[in-house]
Amino acid sequence: MTPSPPIFQRLALIGVGLIGSSIARATRAQGAARSIVATARSAATRARVAELGIVDQVVETNAQAVEGADLVIVCIPVGQSGPVAQEIGPHLMPGAVVSDVGSVKGSVLRDMLPHLPAGVHFVPAHPVAGTEHSGPDAGFAELFVERWCILTPPADAQPAAVERLAAFWRALGAKVETMSAEHHDLVLAITSHVPHLIAYTIVGTAEDLSQVTRSEVLQFSAGGFRDFTRIAASDPTMWRDVFLANKDAVLEMLGTFQEDLSQLTRAIRRGDGETLFNLFTRTRTIRRGIVAIGQDAAAPDFGRPHPLLPHTPLPRPYAAEGE
Ligand code: NAP
Repeated sequence: MTPSPPIFQRLALIGVGLIGSSIARATRAQGAARSIVATARSAATRARVAELGIVDQVVETNAQAVEGADLVIVCIPVGQSGPVAQEIGPHLMPGAVVSDVGSVKGSVLRDMLPHLPAGVHFVPAHPVAGTEHSGPDAGFAELFVERWCILTPPADAQPAAVERLAAFWRALGAKVETMSAEHHDLVLAITSHVPHLIAYTIVGTAEDLSQVTRSEVLQFSAGGFRDFTRIAASDPTMWRDVFLANKDAVLEMLGTFQEDLSQLTRAIRRGDGETLFNLFTRTRTIRRGIVAIGQDAAAPDFGRPHPLLPHTPLPRPYAAEGE
């Protein structure tokens, strides 16, 4: 099969952490851009990116990175979006597509747009894919495969520029959806931001308990707590910025969540098993729906084996032939 021609000539990545470095690796793997230039805030990260060899050129400043680039993707915590847009604005090539990967879209649109010159095409994006790890070593080329990438172009965006960016994300393996920034922020508040807040809360609550020791919490974590700890290990800078930037939608969803939690609290206090059972039945259907559309595996423990588990399975004298 002949590889398709690159969609962009020169891709500039501002920030090369988990997401930026995954884009670099995937772009290389799929030939989606002819060359990649990158930069990061610290000299240490820039040196590491050069060492990893995942881009063609590493430069020192954000302004240098965007010179001559026909696609610029800003891959930094959302709180930095405004100042970085101000830095790169005067150096952008006319006709360039400028995008980002931030987990909040309304604030990015508000903070970046005023600094971008006429003649560049601003199409914010959010690849809904990630892990709890950070930095250039954490990235991998398959991160976006079969994951959604949501584009939130401003109302007056040029359709051809939006389509070119969509084609780029599809080349990286993603499925692309377009919606308004406002709707994106509401959807992600309930599917991502509030769940992270709950994980941060429950892990903190367990840590503060006086009746249960810390070693008991760690020892018996497989009882459900462990999956919260994975989410609560996510990058503190990124998530602080997400909650500050998506304040309104998160507060709205948290209000609804607190009402529902109060109802469950009351059901437990009153011994109302029917209410509990009905809710748990409904939520099990949602989980099965997520597995059915391929957004997670049905394997127990979310498919992660225990690190100390022996590689050969235990004998199964009770199993039927061929099972
Ligand atoms: P990360 O691994 O912490 O990497 C952030 C990168 O941004 C680092 O290379 C950092 O450089 C650089 N940076 C920070 N401020 C900068 C500045 N002013 N100028 C230039 N570079 C700067 O973060 P990440 O997980 O890739 O997240 C990046 C963005 O993707 C965030 O907006 C986040 O909301 C979004 N996102 C994350 C996930 C996820 O699961 N992690 C998923 C989807 C979207 P230094 O290393 O030198 O500090």
